[in-house]
Amino acid sequence: MRHPSRRQRLRDVILSTDPRRATLVGMALLALLLMVSSAGVMLLVAHASTAVDRPAVHWWAALSVGGLAVMAAFIRSGATLQLRDPSLTLPQMAWTITSGAVAYVLAGEARGLVPSVLAMILFFGTFGLTVAEVIGIGTYALLAFACAIGAATRFRADPLGYLDTAYALMVVIVLVGCIALNLRIHRIRARLQQQREALAQALDINRELATRDELTGLLNRRAMLDLMQLEHRRSLRSGRPLLLAQLDIDHFKPINDQHGHAMGDRALQAFAGTVRASVRDTDVLARWGGEEFVLMLCDTPLDDARELLERVRLAVEALEIPHATGTLRMSVSAGVALHMAGDTVVHTLERADQALYTAKALGRNRWVVAPSGPRPAAGPPLNARV
Ligand code: GH3
Ligand code: MG
Ligand code: MG
Repeated sequence: MRHPSRRQRLRDVILSTDPRRATLVGMALLALLLMVSSAGVMLLVAHASTAVDRPAVHWWAALSVGGLAVMAAFIRSGATLQLRDPSLTLPQMAWTITSGAVAYVLAGEARGLVPSVLAMILFFGTFGLTVAEVIGIGTYALLAFACAIGAATRFRADPLGYLDTAYALMVVIVLVGCIALNLRIHRIRARLQQQREALAQALDINRELATRDELTGLLNRRAMLDLMQLEHRRSLRSGRPLLLAQLDIDHFKPINDQHGHAMGDRALQAFAGTVRASVRDTDVLARWGGEEFVLMLCDTPLDDARELLERVRLAVEALEIPHATGTLRMSVSAGVALHMAGDTVVHTLERADQALYTAKALGRNRWVVAPSGPRPAAGPPLNARV
């Protein structure tokens, strides 16, 4: 296992190892950094100008930065993950806007700096909020700004100049721009979501087409081979028996020849449905090709498999498919082989196929169990229908 680098460890300590939480903490730290920078500019102004109330600016800086630091710590603790807004975007924005409005009153002549900061805050919120939230927080920004202009005029006796009006207008313009951008982002997101869903659907259909046989809806040969390899590994670990059976409909060609290919297709569908209904949900039936099928029985003792194959044989024998001039009947032959530890799935299938061949040779409409052993000896007596 690779050890994380020192940089990675530091990143994990600051942001958290949980990727979702790390993203939220990263965003909160960025907001905090912007606030620290803005507070730095305000402190520069306070120390350069004699008209600014320095202690008030110090308090303002401590509260503004402290508030966001507390929120960042709260997000880092993971406690906000349960909330509807785990990034605390709205409280952070409300706090920053209030701080901006107070800065407008405190900054005196330098208040022209504040609207640009306000614009940045609204722009940030645009990406994470809904349209209603952007309108709500924008309205709050306008109100806070109006109060700040009023307070600056009243308490600091700053005359309401054309610049104040221009600043207020700039905030409105930025707000309208942010709402338009927000709507556009929502439309793009909705389109992306639609495309993602369409892609997922297409992938599902593709997967279905790649693993299913179109006519019967059963697993196809490739998917069945994958599944058998998986069950082979499972049975190696668990030591539980795995049985593979080859099934072949008897005299199927005459059905096609006498009743047409479409009728043959219907017979294949009826056969697949009948066999599926006669086995357990955990047994897997696949169409191997043409009128040949493979049945996989997991965790099944041979005696149970005998009963099950007899049940399948009787069900197929009893199946009646109506057609224009009467009813069609079928029978099935099968060969079943117990998969042995250390053997390959392909070899077990070959053994099942040889047992099927024997069942056909013995007169069809029967099942035969392949003899166990690493390799079938030439022509040994098979445990045909006990
Ligand atoms: P046996 O008892 O020895 O198995 O005889 P059979 O006639 O069943 O065997 P054979 O292999 O001679 O014929 C299989 C037939 O299955 C031939 C082929 O046309 C038909 N077949 C294969 N796939 C399909 C299919 O998808 N639809 C239809 N209708 N027929 C198919
Ligand atoms: Mg056949
Ligand atoms: Mg065949």
